Amino acid sequence: MNTPWGYPDFDAHEALHFVTDEASGLRAIVAMHSTHLGPAAGGTRMWHYADDAEALTDALRLSRGMSYKNAMAGLPLGGGKAVVLADPDRTKTPQMLAAFGRALDRLGGNYVTAEDVGMSVADMIAISKQTRFVAGLPVEGGEVGGDPGPHTSLGVFLGIKAAVRHALGKDSLAGLHLALQGAGSVAGGVARLAAAEGARLSIADVDAKRAQKLAEQTGGQVVAPENLLSLAADVVSPCALGAILTAETIAGLNAPIVAGGANNQLATPADGERLQARGILYAPDYVINAGGIINVSTEYLGDGDAALVRQRIEAIPGRLDQIWASSAATGRNPAAVADAMAQKLIGRGSQ
Ligand code: NAD
Repeated sequence: MNTPWGYPDFDAHEALHFVTDEASGLRAIVAMHSTHLGPAAGGTRMWHYADDAEALTDALRLSRGMSYKNAMAGLPLGGGKAVVLADPDRTKTPQMLAAFGRALDRLGGNYVTAEDVGMSVADMIAISKQTRFVAGLPVEGGEVGGDPGPHTSLGVFLGIKAAVRHALGKDSLAGLHLALQGAGSVAGGVARLAAAEGARLSIADVDAKRAQKLAEQTGGQVVAPENLLSLAADVVSPCALGAILTAETIAGLNAPIVAGGANNQLATPADGERLQARGILYAPDYVINAGGIINVSTEYLGDGDAALVRQRIEAIPGRLDQIWASSAATGRNPAAVADAMAQKLIGRGSQ
């Protein structure tokens, strides 16, 4: 019998909930990786998975990633993630969202959700009619909450500046060439902040119109998506998909720094080694892209205002510096250093 305990991505997850609601057709998995630091928090992804195993793998990996991200951001939250096995454009219904909200309510606050791929602010509002264990809701003037994207962008921008200081000894992005993969929510914010500081931008998106629009707003240049990762640049900033750093793409990199907002950038842990072997400075993704969850956390816990959110995001560069210093001292690559630090914070691992 195949059980989740035997899965390659099973990492002593505290609980897995398989949710079914026949009336609405809801099928979902809520993965709670760790509640060591607080309620397991992480967004809900709705996706038309090829099969159930793919959905389970996604839930297992993403929830562990949230444990690491929340711990490294210094938040009093554990890590979790939900996946709903449905097509966000074709099979999402109000009944399904309501059933999902009721299922989350039954978990009693041990898991707290927000938006992820395939889920919108409107969906969070629908879920919030059934449960209070949800964040990422719209806000009125001055309140903390709303779209996490701009907060993620700010953290990534500050992280890029830290990497530039560390690797190139420069305090400003003025005159530096930034190659941005993606022109969506996170990339857009990074591009505007970097352009305002005088960076030169190359932008690639599979949606050519989006790339063009962002390039016009920021004085950047559009490049073909297949050429982005090998551009001669000061910083390559992956802000689109995961698993884009592979043996092949790392061999083709032509920049001293990789620092961007996409989740799960390394295809495998060996790719962290490969970047280090090439002398390329890597900013571990879940550390640099924590701005959004910092905002969500402050909204949900109600433990601070916009100034505190900014202060918490401004702590991201210091955390990266700590990782790079430990990497230099131990010879371990930054991704491995970050994983070990996160594991220690959630009471696991040997280091
Ligand atoms: P988004 O959907 O707004 O933008 C993603 C963009 O990437 C889209 O424009 C899409 O067309 C483009 N894209 C897809 N494949 C591409 C490719 N091969 N080459 C170039 N462009 C491609 O999403 P987002 O919210 O900006 O998120 C971007 C990344 O950051 C994702 O990996 C996401 O998981 C991660 N992230 C986002 C947040 C947040 O607050 N939004 C927080 C943490 C991490």
